[in-house]
Amino acid sequence: MTDHADIRSDRRDNENQLEVGKPKHSAAGVTGAAVGLKRTLEQLGPVRTVRSLRRLNQADGFDCPSCAWPDPEPGQRRTAEFCENGAKAVAEEATRRRVDRDFFAEHSIAELAGRSAYWLGQQGRLTEPMVRRGGASHYEPISWEDAFALVAAHLNRLDSPDEAIFYTSGRTSNEAAFAYQLFVRAFGTNNLPDCSNMCHESTSVALAEVIGIGKGSVSLEDVHDAELIVIAGQNPGTNHPRMLTALEKAKQRGARILSINPLPEAGLMRFRNPQTARGLTTGTALSDLHLPLRINGDLALFQAIGALLLQAEDRAPGTVLDHDFIERHTVGFEQWAAHVRGLDWDEVQRATGLTRSLIEEAAQMFVASRATVICWAMGITQHRNAVATVKEFTNVALAQGGIGRPGAGLCPVRGHSNVQGDRTMGIWERPPQHFLDAVQVEFGFDPPREPGFDTVAAIGALRERRAKVFVALGGNFAAAAPDTAVTEQALAGAELTVQVSTKLNRSHLVAGHDALILPTLGRSERDRTGGCEQRVTVEDSMSAVHASRGPLEPASSQLRSEVDIVCSFAESVLGGRHAIPWSAFRSDYTNIRRSIARVVPGCAAYDEKVDRPGGFVLPHPPRDSRTFQTKPGRAVFSVSPLQVISVPAGRLLLQTLRSHDQFNTTIYGLDDRYRGISGGRKVVFVHPDDLAQHGLTDGDLVDVVSEWADDEPRRVRGFRVVPYPTPRGCAAAYYPETNPLVPLGSTAVGSNSPTSKSVIVRLERAAASGATGFGQDDTDDAGDTSSGVAGEGGSKRSVAPQHLS
Ligand code: SF4
Repeated sequence: MTDHADIRSDRRDNENQLEVGKPKHSAAGVTGAAVGLKRTLEQLGPVRTVRSLRRLNQADGFDCPSCAWPDPEPGQRRTAEFCENGAKAVAEEATRRRVDRDFFAEHSIAELAGRSAYWLGQQGRLTEPMVRRGGASHYEPISWEDAFALVAAHLNRLDSPDEAIFYTSGRTSNEAAFAYQLFVRAFGTNNLPDCSNMCHESTSVALAEVIGIGKGSVSLEDVHDAELIVIAGQNPGTNHPRMLTALEKAKQRGARILSINPLPEAGLMRFRNPQTARGLTTGTALSDLHLPLRINGDLALFQAIGALLLQAEDRAPGTVLDHDFIERHTVGFEQWAAHVRGLDWDEVQRATGLTRSLIEEAAQMFVASRATVICWAMGITQHRNAVATVKEFTNVALAQGGIGRPGAGLCPVRGHSNVQGDRTMGIWERPPQHFLDAVQVEFGFDPPREPGFDTVAAIGALRERRAKVFVALGGNFAAAAPDTAVTEQALAGAELTVQVSTKLNRSHLVAGHDALILPTLGRSERDRTGGCEQRVTVEDSMSAVHASRGPLEPASSQLRSEVDIVCSFAESVLGGRHAIPWSAFRSDYTNIRRSIARVVPGCAAYDEKVDRPGGFVLPHPPRDSRTFQTKPGRAVFSVSPLQVISVPAGRLLLQTLRSHDQFNTTIYGLDDRYRGISGGRKVVFVHPDDLAQHGLTDGDLVDVVSEWADDEPRRVRGFRVVPYPTPRGCAAAYYPETNPLVPLGSTAVGSNSPTSKSVIVRLERAAASGATGFGQDDTDDAGDTSSGVAGEGGSKRSVAPQHLS
């Protein structure tokens, strides 16, 4: 047995060493490389470190389990084709630390629930299936066969298949995802929420409507060849670090970079590439212009840029817009042009917080470019008006003919390594009919046609007991989802929760009445399911699909692959229902890929093509042939009203974000080197003038209280205020710690994604009595005291639901 006390003694479970220093102005460098290597050596030891890192992101190796940034062509890859955070992800997954049955005997669920996410993650890999029966205090071991029987017993006694929810995380391979959606649909429901619902759903909805496909239109070469790269609502230095290499390459070829973000992130400013001599000295300056945009000002900014492009075209006809493209490939240009020409510039400045001259400078960069790539991420997609904002990006791209042109296009950058692939494979609560038709032809049963629950709807259904079983193929749903207290209450009320996981996390501790933890192989591990060496496939952010083969021995002989677990679910639950070859799927994943080839559009000869070095790229009609499979058969200019979030006096607009030492809900460490934070995470970044205005100073402890038009108290306690150069009226703090502040009922129009990037909050001093702080001074807040949100101990306030004026 491992000596838990010994190996765990140095893993902190509190924030008493929190320190705040100066933010950095450059990203990566020798420090980044050293930190990544140190973490892998600590967790893996030297032999496994070398064995894993030399195969990470290589054509014959395994795909990084972290973000979805694409790999260069096989011949252009470096020996170390990974970033600091890729190394951290491998360290986290391939650790030698273990969570075994003795650990669970030693620690009750209640005790573990009091531990931090960081502490839980640091305990190591799960080693065998565990069960909590009938609300017991502890998990205990269970055989795989009994675990599958328990799942079958619960699922088969439901009144309807729609009372079960089947969540998927973006790490799941294409093979596991395809088998999973097939099992779920053969069981009889489309309740397939996934992490896309919380991240790029707004992108998928918007792009499907206006260009006919919900995916970005660029390749890595396009980024390298762009004349202008726009990075909006994205922090590549932390969230997609190898993107910095692509940006550096583009800069060396003459590209200009326009960054648009409330915070001046280090990775937007300068890149010190640790693999080049230049990176050891000055590095490469990235942004030519940075716009410190007010949170949620992107829609207004892009409408303003559209208006300025039209004015520039008026001054020099034929030099700015691509009239041939507009004429031949789009509809709605005149309506859009009329709309943006009539913009109210006062509203634009109120929304963006930017001067007109700064916006004109940015617009001039578009005017001067014949090949513009527009990149974005969660800073865009998690707002009430996120779908409209993505459409506005598209409007600007269409006006300049920027789709299907080398060096130009739309580049939504996905956060989790196979989140795009899972959707391609049918993990979708609203699958297109043609996909279901193909499933029917291939497998001989009629899949359910009614839409299922997305993530937000799934939480609601669990909360209201309309859903009773929750199955998660990976992920950490309790921590990833909004409105933590509501989500946890919903999960805990389930009759059965099933978590297929590699490591211990919060979701295991808000277990249903019965609960299973089923340990699975990681991406870095060899998969010998069925007695042969299996490979899986994944799709990156730019629609490139390739194989992945882990090089390491599994953490435990009891681990099963996700494909194996899904096929076993199906056999146990469905019995002889439907003639689907689960056993053949399990024994050789090639059989799954052959079905993928027949069911999934663009995947003909899938098994053969994924074996090419570097794999293959899925078809993308707008990119490939300027073909737009929209309702009118052309790309669509859309008109969106300019709505500005109205933040009541004394409140701030909060965005949740990652630290540099985390990946989604996985906390690698307690430092955020780029923002000057070390030893803790409970900080809230606020403009110094906003702090001064409300009598707060650097280092004060506050509670952050969310205001929303329902009766739920939403408060997180004891956050240290940190003066930071964010726009006035804005704030930022890490998730998942601040997820409790994101109301379940606040979602993006059209995509239902939680609005985690625009939460109206007030700050209250953590010490209770009589102190001031945001929201404590009611004198300038007339009419806002009648009813509504009552934080614990806070004043009651009434807030209009979306604050859109
Ligand atoms: S950029 Fe993303 S995919 Fe690439 S190594 Fe870093 S974390 Fe992994």
